Amino acid sequence: MNRNKILNMIWMVLLCACVSFRSAQCQTPLPIIDMHLHAIDVDANGPVPTGIGRGNPAYPDYDPEKPWMQTFFDWMANPNGENPIVSPMTNQELKDQTLAVLRRRNIYGITSGNRLDEFKQEGGEHIINSWMPPRDIKNWPSPEEVRKLLETGKYKVFGEVTLQYAGISPNDPRFAPYLEILEELDIPLGIHIGTGPPGVSYFMGMGKHLGRMHSAFEIEDVAIRHPRLRINLMHAGWPLADELIAVLYNHPQVYCDVGIICYSLPRDAFHDYLKRIAQAGFHRRIMFGSDQMNWPDAIEEGITAIETASFLSEEQKRDILYNNAARFLRLSQEEIDRHHGR
Ligand SMILES: [Zn+2]
Repeated sequence: MNRNKILNMIWMVLLCACVSFRSAQCQTPLPIIDMHLHAIDVDANGPVPTGIGRGNPAYPDYDPEKPWMQTFFDWMANPNGENPIVSPMTNQELKDQTLAVLRRRNIYGITSGNRLDEFKQEGGEHIINSWMPPRDIKNWPSPEEVRKLLETGKYKVFGEVTLQYAGISPNDPRFAPYLEILEELDIPLGIHIGTGPPGVSYFMGMGKHLGRMHSAFEIEDVAIRHPRLRINLMHAGWPLADELIAVLYNHPQVYCDVGIICYSLPRDAFHDYLKRIAQAGFHRRIMFGSDQMNWPDAIEEGITAIETASFLSEEQKRDILYNNAARFLRLSQEEIDRHHGR
């Protein structure tokens, strides 16, 4: 073999190695949409660090001799089991770690909370703005002010609406003018229907929070009154599967997300719930949502909970992790292609 041939061969080997290295580097993970992401203060769930037992929360019991908030904070400070999901210590770390997960896993988060603008500024396309009103409707801006805010185009979704914590039903007449605006402007509603923190009714000022409002039945009148409104039941009406299935069956425009239940419930309990909904025929209306608040690791814990569901096909998992939300949000083909790195 002459010298030129050898040099050519070396050149080809180097070129191939370089091309395969680049393609491995550039390979985009399949995209995921997180319908339920928050940008809030790191200590929103109590003094940091707070934590959640991975797959087994071991919910605390309440002896009224000690205030419930103290019991709750002790529980958050001492999460159950090995390798719990623990919050960072600062707002900066919370933002950095959350955005790092989004970038690494190619996740696009419908994001709300008081730190949204900071997250959006750094997170770019990975953060999709959602406007979260105050908990109690008496503190909301007027419908006309909200209309102006939404007409700016800054927000893709209206949520998370957390009226349930104030004991206010979606049927409350004060909510109606806002729903009319959402329907007219064609902005989807994300509303908390389902569980909150354990014992939340005994948190200061939340004594009107009731377990019976976890029911998906709460949304039926709204759905019928506003048939063009897209509705996401955040937390999927857990744990009332019968009511959720009846509502998904009766109102085909209603979707749900698995925020908080995907990582805070014992894994088997979450899978039982997911299986009920999917086996009833509604896997195309379930969307992944983490409800990540103070624990960046919770996002991947929630994704793992979907990926390990042995009763779902690979196609159903992709629907839950991305396709259903892309359909619900009416993403353009261009956006979908971009998310896939095409
Ligand atoms: Zn919620």
